[in-house]
Amino acid sequence: MKTKLFRLNELPVAGELIANGELVAFPTETVYGLGADARNADAVRAIFTAKGRPADNPLIVHIADFEMIYEIASEVPEIAVRLAKAFWAGPLTMVLPKRPEIPSVTSGGLDTVGIRMPSHPVAQELIRLAGCPIAAPSANRSGKPSPTTAKHVMDDMEGRIAGVIDGGLCEVGVESTVICFDDAETIHILRPGIISEEDLQPFAKNVYVDKAVYSQIAPDAKVASPGMKYKHYAPKAKILPVETDSFSKFMDYVQSHADNNAWCLLFDSDPKPENLPFMRYGDDGREQAHFLFLRFRELDEHGADTVYVRCPRKDGTSLSVYNRLMRAAGFEVITV
Ligand code: AMP
Ligand code: MG
Repeated sequence: MKTKLFRLNELPVAGELIANGELVAFPTETVYGLGADARNADAVRAIFTAKGRPADNPLIVHIADFEMIYEIASEVPEIAVRLAKAFWAGPLTMVLPKRPEIPSVTSGGLDTVGIRMPSHPVAQELIRLAGCPIAAPSANRSGKPSPTTAKHVMDDMEGRIAGVIDGGLCEVGVESTVICFDDAETIHILRPGIISEEDLQPFAKNVYVDKAVYSQIAPDAKVASPGMKYKHYAPKAKILPVETDSFSKFMDYVQSHADNNAWCLLFDSDPKPENLPFMRYGDDGREQAHFLFLRFRELDEHGADTVYVRCPRKDGTSLSVYNRLMRAAGFEVITV
């Protein structure tokens, strides 16, 4: 299959492909998604094949206006309506009970489904043109860093999907915050994103982050969200996060351990290291989220074998970056 790169004036063609059961990757404000008609089981199955994604890892269904939620969810609690008013369109996914019209392949066999309204105008327009809710995981091959440019998608998916819409670099850079509701007053964060625990606190009596966000879970453990089980986001290079309160301790450790083709991934405010190649990925959570996956792919292009990474904070938006980094590193951190 030849994968077509669509420009923005060709969106109607892309929308028609989706309506006809084909796969098209498209930009969102978080990362590029690999889209198919969420109601078409064969089209959705093709997403899993193209990505090499385990069948029990559910997809997020994308909608273009709030009313579409009732085509997908069988119950929409009042707290979900309030959160949608506050955070949609935007990078918040809510897991709700699924309507039977959404095939179980879309929800990884679960009776719940993740729903989100992206704010990216291209994503919204594509959903309208296709005339259906669009199921879309990140448009990378399973296990690789999520794509934040159309070129990343092509690198992973060329020949496997009908097309990619080029919308430039994604603004947020990490995937959406995924939440479910344990009860009417409890928000359970399954995957951190740039909408943080602190942002959600005013909307519920209890807000908590699943412990699988911070630490590795046993392979046979029962998890609240299937995506938590899988190693993710990893470049070819070995990622070694180094947790420390100072740049000089970080550098002392790296200088005494680094061997051939070791790189550093630093904060913008860090000094320039001596004798070691390096990249930077920002100082705060928003910047680091924007650059993390981009830098992972660039480091692979440079043939880095090992990357020593300055560890982000674990609060606010930074938790989303910390979580992606830990998963790329198999949850192994060096503390100095
Ligand atoms: P991706 O599409 O690659 O961003 O991954 C979507 C992630 O959202 C999955 O890996 C799950 O962890 C989570 N998710 C989606 N739907 C559900 C659901 N019904 N229940 C729990 N987690 C979900
Ligand atoms: Mg993904």
